[in-house]
Amino acid sequence: MSDIGARALHVLQTVFGYPAFRGQQADIIEHVASGGDALVLMPTGGGKSLCYQIPALLRDGVAVVVSPLIALMQDQVDALAEVGVRAAFLNSTQTFEETLRIERQVRTGDIDVVYVAPERLMTQRCLDLFDDSPISLFAIDEAHCVSQWGHDFRPEYIRLSILHERFPQVPRIALTATADQLTRAEIAQRLQLEDARQFVSSFDRPNIRYQIVEKTNGRKQLLDFITTEHAGDSGIVYCLSRKKVEETAEFLAEHGIKALAYHAGMEYTLRASNQSRFLREDNIVMVATIAFGMGIDKPDVRFVCHLDLPKSIEGYYQETGRGGRDGLPASAWMAYGLQDVVLQRRMIDESEADDSFKRVLSSKLDAMLGLCETLSCRRMRLLDYFGEAAGPCGNCDTCLMPPVSFDGTVPVQKLLSAIYRVDQRFAAGHVIDVLRGADSERIGQWHHDKLSVFGVGSDRSEQEWRAIVRQAIALGLVTVDHEQYSSLKLTEAARAVLKGEKKVQLRQYQKPVKQKRQAAPKGYAELELSGAEQAIFDKLRWWRVETARAHGVPAYVVFQDATLREIAKVKPGSLDELRGVSGVGEKKLASYGDEIVALIGELA
Ligand code: ADP
Ligand code: ZN
Repeated sequence: MSDIGARALHVLQTVFGYPAFRGQQADIIEHVASGGDALVLMPTGGGKSLCYQIPALLRDGVAVVVSPLIALMQDQVDALAEVGVRAAFLNSTQTFEETLRIERQVRTGDIDVVYVAPERLMTQRCLDLFDDSPISLFAIDEAHCVSQWGHDFRPEYIRLSILHERFPQVPRIALTATADQLTRAEIAQRLQLEDARQFVSSFDRPNIRYQIVEKTNGRKQLLDFITTEHAGDSGIVYCLSRKKVEETAEFLAEHGIKALAYHAGMEYTLRASNQSRFLREDNIVMVATIAFGMGIDKPDVRFVCHLDLPKSIEGYYQETGRGGRDGLPASAWMAYGLQDVVLQRRMIDESEADDSFKRVLSSKLDAMLGLCETLSCRRMRLLDYFGEAAGPCGNCDTCLMPPVSFDGTVPVQKLLSAIYRVDQRFAAGHVIDVLRGADSERIGQWHHDKLSVFGVGSDRSEQEWRAIVRQAIALGLVTVDHEQYSSLKLTEAARAVLKGEKKVQLRQYQKPVKQKRQAAPKGYAELELSGAEQAIFDKLRWWRVETARAHGVPAYVVFQDATLREIAKVKPGSLDELRGVSGVGEKKLASYGDEIVALIGELA
């Protein structure tokens, strides 16, 4: 091992308390600590923070971390202080005196890490400050914000190329959890990191179990899911609209779940206080729009639910990735139905975007629909989207309960002819009524009971037909025309199916079954606790809540669940035994060691 490598490992073990590096961490840290530039792509929970925090400690001077999230800087700084790293931030929430004090520390190098937002960094005052200071490195977090095509574009990020021009000798590391090939190239180009070494990790999150169910009564299904599989856990529920966020939070709260709401239309103080409770308390369900979540480091989010279809796989993957950062089992659950498809298509059609951009949006949505309707492993499909090959995972719904597929050519032909016979002028509900031979006023009014297709699909339920329509849309045989009352229209591809030249494989509609609590996936057995250990773990959690409150920091900043679980198993009788537990570094040992050992002594 190189000298730098050995020093890095020493810092990992003594400061952060972890026994070994994960994945590419060791290589990245050695490269940056030696002065190289890096572009790091790692999934959420992969351990990006250490990739700049350890070089910050190994190099002389102050590391500047560019982060778009002012609201989270305090927590990031507190978490570093807990392990004994000297950190601070510069942002608009500070008084002038505080700013002056921190600027002085930066100038003299009496601090290891300073966080700044990009707009702050671009001010003359800040650039001048850094000119005069011993800067050890620049870390650009959430680097995908530089991409105009991405979902979190921040115009200030584009100007960060100035760092290369102004501080050519200072190494830079850009990090992100989302980037397809195109975005990656865009990041490298805009940040002038073309010559940087790229470190691309696998995007797999093996501890996350993916499940996508047919939506019948979304809220009720959500409630069942939470109460049967994740009672008492922290989780996030994503909804499309602000109104739905509020209604869903209210509904969950009425049913005894500690649910809070978060969306950009809320009053700032309430929004901030809900976010802070979610981070600090142990068992809150946050119902939110996608405005919530970027940069939320909470490691013990046990589930992420979607009550509405996300616009793209990138978005879905990033949102679901907020679950299980600590590596313990977590769920990604989504309920989706025909209405979602119709709505998302309408949003694209009605958006102000130009045609080429609409085509991009549309193909992203198609990929998302493909994931929902896939007959094979969800994870394979996801990883394939990010250009990674994989085999079936054994930890998603299609692996655990393989969907039944059938030759759906005949029912799809019936659907396509019905759409044709009603002149492509009616929405799904009416077309299904025609197929099922329903007795509705509209059918009489338009004499649709006289059509040859009337009643040819009476052998299937409405729910089944909805599933078929949805898949026909996902397969590109049918489109929805929003200019005209959401009427269904045939595409060019429909012709071959109608003529019998092409067969269609469909997913069998399955009545939603009541969820059972599932066993932890393979490989997590060592984390299962016995009854007595569970009791110790619960006591430790109580101790953690009290301690975190006393220090004014989130609970996970004191110790993460994985660390408390290991303590409950090891039952350390001395400081030395506690030192061996993953997540216990020297500073935390000094701060909390005696209390923990005493607590274990009382319980044993
Ligand atoms: P990211 O920023 O990539 O989403 P984080 O840096 O927040 O991920 O790390 C995710 C979790 O993994 C954190 O709880 C962190 O403490 C933990 N972690 C990171 N590296 C290691 C390691 N080498 N050993 C053990 N735990 C680690
Ligand atoms: Zn799978």
